Amino acid sequence: MNDDILQTRPDLEVTRVRHALKFRLLEVKRVQPLTPNFVSITLTGDALEDFESASFDDHVKVFFPEPGALKPTVPVAGPDGPVFDPAKPRPVARDFTPRRFDRDARELDIEFALHEAGPATAWAAQAAPGQFLGIGGPRGSFVIPAHFDWHLFIGDETALPAIARRLEELPAGTRAATLIEVADASARIEFDTRADLYAEWRYRDDAVHPDGGALLLALREIYLPDGEGYIWAAGEATLMRAVRQLLCVERGIDKRRIRASAYWKRGAQAVHETLEG
Ligand SMILES: Cc1cc2nc3c(=O)[nH]c(=O)nc-3n(C[C@H](O)[C@H](O)[C@H](O)COP(=O)(O)OP(=O)(O)OC[C@H]3O[C@@H](n4cnc5c(N)ncnc54)[C@H](O)[C@@H]3O)c2cc1C
Repeated sequence: MNDDILQTRPDLEVTRVRHALKFRLLEVKRVQPLTPNFVSITLTGDALEDFESASFDDHVKVFFPEPGALKPTVPVAGPDGPVFDPAKPRPVARDFTPRRFDRDARELDIEFALHEAGPATAWAAQAAPGQFLGIGGPRGSFVIPAHFDWHLFIGDETALPAIARRLEELPAGTRAATLIEVADASARIEFDTRADLYAEWRYRDDAVHPDGGALLLALREIYLPDGEGYIWAAGEATLMRAVRQLLCVERGIDKRRIRASAYWKRGAQAVHETLEG
């Protein structure tokens, strides 16, 4: 961020951290439904001994077993990235947020939003202890300082793990707001936070608005305090573009204070894009 404010507030600089690429085969230890369509899966294994995740914005590449198989094929790290066994079909892979990591217990939680169809959703819907997943990364972390005067988090079900993790990590008294659109009221979760949190929920089953419409309407009106703020947003690609546009054009937010990502795209598989420009 080439930002004048950094002269007086160097603590607001966003930083990037690189991690050595590593692939791990992990066993499912627990499966815990959080809402009717949101499930927490706890993975375990000694390979987690040196796992690092420096930011709530991180992701791991999750490798899924072939349907009917117990274990996925997991690549190894080569000098130029992952090296796959040429004798086997490439495993299906999707991006997910490291929601909770406990090094001592060797536990990593990943939370899956279950939607209509897709290999990740199909696997998570049937997951049981004793099964296996592969993970790669995180390769790097985008670290947003906690010291901003306020934080706003925007998203859908796929953003809940990152937002819930960040809210748990923010220090007491941090000013934070969430604006989240989910399928219906049953998809809401409780946040565990010491931050001073204002949470707004919108629902896609609200027949008045098309998907994302209620979220955009709320974003037009949400109170944005004075001071230095940071806005993090993740969800469906077209909606996130509209969110970023609205924030920059209508709400006058400096784009260096927005991190908006497409976590999925309607009609396409495995999409990940950081929205810029
Ligand atoms: C950095 C990053 C972090 C992410 N973290 C998480 C996370 O912690 N938890 C989580 O649940 N997801 C997360 N996602 C989103 C997840 O990777 C995608 O939703 C992924 O496409 C799911 O794979 P799939 O095999 O179920 O569906 P795919 O095979 O990828 O897609 C099949 C169809 O389903 C549609 N689709 C995909 N996702 C959704 C959805 N959420 N709702 C409705 N339709 C959908 C697609 O448009 C496509 O038509 C993250 C994505 C990124 C990029």
